[in-house]
Amino acid sequence: MIEQFIKAGYTIKNFTEKADIHIINTCTVTNMADRKSRQMLRKVKEHNPEGILVACGCYAQVAKEELEKIPEINLILGINEKNKIVEYVENYAKDHSQKECITDVMYQKEFLDFGTTEYTDKTRAVVKVQDGCDRFCSYCIIPYARGHVRSRKIENVVQEVEKIAEEGIKEVVITGIHIASYGKDFKEKKNLIDLLEAIEPIRGIERIRLGSLEPTIITKEFLNRLQKLEKICPHFHLSLQSGCDATLQRMNRKYTTEEFRTSVHLLREYYPDVALTTDVIVGFPGETKEEFKQTYAFLKEIDFYKMHIFPYSPRKGTKAAVMPNQVEAKIKEERSKRLIELSNENEARQNEKEIGKIVEVLLEEEDGEFLKGHTANYHLIKVKMNPQFLNTIQKVKVEKVEEFVSYAVAIEQNV
Ligand code: SF4
Repeated sequence: MIEQFIKAGYTIKNFTEKADIHIINTCTVTNMADRKSRQMLRKVKEHNPEGILVACGCYAQVAKEELEKIPEINLILGINEKNKIVEYVENYAKDHSQKECITDVMYQKEFLDFGTTEYTDKTRAVVKVQDGCDRFCSYCIIPYARGHVRSRKIENVVQEVEKIAEEGIKEVVITGIHIASYGKDFKEKKNLIDLLEAIEPIRGIERIRLGSLEPTIITKEFLNRLQKLEKICPHFHLSLQSGCDATLQRMNRKYTTEEFRTSVHLLREYYPDVALTTDVIVGFPGETKEEFKQTYAFLKEIDFYKMHIFPYSPRKGTKAAVMPNQVEAKIKEERSKRLIELSNENEARQNEKEIGKIVEVLLEEEDGEFLKGHTANYHLIKVKMNPQFLNTIQKVKVEKVEEFVSYAVAIEQNV
């Protein structure tokens, strides 16, 4: 959206400055996100009563009637309308009766391609290859906000990645709402691995990192092809959500802990240095002491590098929000605390194991006297080097670890 406004000749201001147009791209993933979106919208108008206030994004898409109750909002736009945001805002400026436009994403069949973007980060670019989700997990509103799976054409992704490479960016992160479903909507039989094979040969790109994956995509067939791609980072984010089968079933997740375990074993077999990260929801409705105990034991067994822990937060309109036996906030907090502690222990221990090793780091930014960046398996490294080495991959030797950061010395310096 910023790009579109710049192209149309507008100047982008900092969020706290007064502007002619304010745009809030709302989130609706939980009730809390809705509340924050509403608060933000009101706050903007308080500071800048004259400007045009636009609410767009997922919350606007699924709950426009709630936003219509906020008189401060001038214009409400859905997900697809972001693609032509300047036109909508300018139309509103001319004619104040055009107060909203939201098309129904549930009927949308094709990926809405925004074309190539300008990237502000000069070392890593996040490339969206897919939208929508057909999984309907019981706690999640995303399928209603984003519609069914739509995949971006392979040739369009390749074109974008080529442009990224021309700009000198070395790493691409392949993301979407549910990238394991990539290609499901294509007539021709193409899927995520076909897409990755098409990106791999692009000169200038040195690393391809994958966004969150559903564990069911990890099969021998997938890994046999993936392993041949040298640029793939051995860092996989496998969304687990719970380590207890009964909870997974209530969540309407499409795998069991046994299947998840098999995926992890396979990944470790193919990528011995793999870093595995995950998301876990604690205090899901009906999560008993025993169920949490099973989750804890499973997480301990899998030994993730990092875990993102989310205390369950209900979202109106989902099945889970009206399930019986909602868990008390205090219990959710205690369980989160235990899992965060486990995650920190894992990360510290796995970082320690790197001491003495020679690793390759992509130097992403300056940090005081250091340059910092990540290894392919996502360890954060700081090294004292001249800023001329920014955006290069360097071999360094890890010397010590402090506060989840590995400090290293350069052993080769190649510009
Ligand atoms: S797979 Fe992810 S996006 Fe899709 S419904 Fe489940 S949690 Fe939501």
